[in-house]
Amino acid sequence: MPAKPFQFMDVPRRTPREVPVSVRVLGWGEIYGQFDAPAAGEQASRCLDCGNPYCEWKCPVHNDIPNWLSLVQEGRLFEAAELAHETNPLPEICGRVCPQDRLCEGACTINVGFEAVTIGSIEKYIVDEAFKQGWRPDLSQVKASGRRVAIIGAGPAGLSCADRLARAGIQAHVFDRYEEIGGLLTFGIPPFKLEKQVMATRRGVLEAMGVQFHLGIEIGRDLGIDDLLRDYDAVFLGSGAYRYVDAQLPGQQRRGVIPALPFLVSNGRRVLHGGADAGPAAAMPAVPTQVIAGWQGAAPDLDMRGKHVVVLGGGDTGMDCVRTATRLGAASVTCVYRRGEAAMPGSRREVKNARDEGVRFLFNRQPLSIEGEDAVTGLRVVETAAAGGARSESVQIIAGSETVIAADVVILAFGFRADPPAWLDALAPDREADQRLRVGIESRLPFQTAHPRLFAGGDVVRGADLVVTAVYDGREAARSIARLVLATDDRRAHSEPAA
Ligand code: FAD
Ligand code: SF4
Repeated sequence: MPAKPFQFMDVPRRTPREVPVSVRVLGWGEIYGQFDAPAAGEQASRCLDCGNPYCEWKCPVHNDIPNWLSLVQEGRLFEAAELAHETNPLPEICGRVCPQDRLCEGACTINVGFEAVTIGSIEKYIVDEAFKQGWRPDLSQVKASGRRVAIIGAGPAGLSCADRLARAGIQAHVFDRYEEIGGLLTFGIPPFKLEKQVMATRRGVLEAMGVQFHLGIEIGRDLGIDDLLRDYDAVFLGSGAYRYVDAQLPGQQRRGVIPALPFLVSNGRRVLHGGADAGPAAAMPAVPTQVIAGWQGAAPDLDMRGKHVVVLGGGDTGMDCVRTATRLGAASVTCVYRRGEAAMPGSRREVKNARDEGVRFLFNRQPLSIEGEDAVTGLRVVETAAAGGARSESVQIIAGSETVIAADVVILAFGFRADPPAWLDALAPDREADQRLRVGIESRLPFQTAHPRLFAGGDVVRGADLVVTAVYDGREAARSIARLVLATDDRRAHSEPAA
């Protein structure tokens, strides 16, 4: 129970200090600062302890939010960090990138009328500050089981699974084709939302817990799934969703048209290797075109200086593209979305940030074609009206409203689909293609696939979704894996004669 239950009436909601727009667009650093202990305590004291914490239910990993807010108020930081990790293996990351306005904060009891408790920023504060003060997960009581599990993919699903396996005494070996861990956390989500140092710290924490990373190894090319199934007790597949949705716009082969992920991945790599201060013209990187399923284009030109950039798509990926283009020196950046603002699928916070940084939004414009000769010169659009409510999926075309928006670069941010690896066919030959990754159904363990020792979770199963849902899947898959591989130990102990 908070010392003063109606504190939220006297203390207004505050978020950590934002870097001024004029400064932040010049670099790649995160735009939000950090609470100090008094500010975190004061904001935590706004929690009403309502007794029916909708925030906790709306949080996909069901964080024990009221209790860690209470620990923060009392200054018991290490206990808060311990509690935060009980439900969430990557709390400092979710605190930064979750769309809290749609999740925990959107469900906060005081949100209507008094504005929600700043849950995400406090979650980030707890873990960043605890790490800074030397706190680390304590695995001293964990007994090694001698069991080994291979994890394909070092994204949030794979890392979450590795964390939980380590805590269960199971050796986790994580394989990733990239040179760094994090998956889209490192190579997709731009550094102004999640600085790459955060991932470096998390890597150190996981390694200290005994997790082993094997980077630059692609399963299916450098090692086969059969190798993993032979050498490990079980395998977790967390390989993400990398097949981009192709709108097949006429003219999309023109020079200057770039799909979102190659654009963001290339820039993510450039910043990772050039440091957070990499300016617009810093060395252009080698582009991992082979990892963007379905895309055959050349390496994207990241030099946006002086160019007019149009981004198609109104989700979080679209917002990341517009804000990245701004930082790459574009002369103008316009987001074109075929429905109205109320129907935008992404986080409101990211739309606001984009607007603050000078991005122009054109709503109710359906793209028709990309204009130009060899290179792009514009985007032909037609105006639309909502057909069936402001949030409706379907739109009506307004006849005679075609216009061309001048553009030097058009970035396609229509989303991604799950892209399960081809080798799954051989592992589950009897099953219908769409059933191969229907995990945890019928009598199987949660997150277990058609193959009894292969588990899967995150975007490869759900399709493009969220970091926090990938974290949930990895956590729960690890629970199933532990049940399987440790039960095998139990059976052996009971059937094999003692040595
Ligand atoms: P991924 O993060 O994609 O990780 C999969 C990993 O598997 C990759 O590292 C890949 O290299 C590796 N891999 C794949 N195949 C192989 C193989 N054969 N061998 C070895 N390794 C392999 N979500 C949010 O909650 N908030 C946001 O702000 C947000 N912003 C986003 C911005 C962008 C641009 C994008 C694209 C997504 C964003 N998301 C956001 C969604 C979020 O990043 C994903 O839902 C999440 O990362 C999925 O986690 P995952 O572990 O399933 O997959
Ligand atoms: Fe909110 Fe995400 Fe943290 Fe859950 S994990 S409390 S949804 S910020």
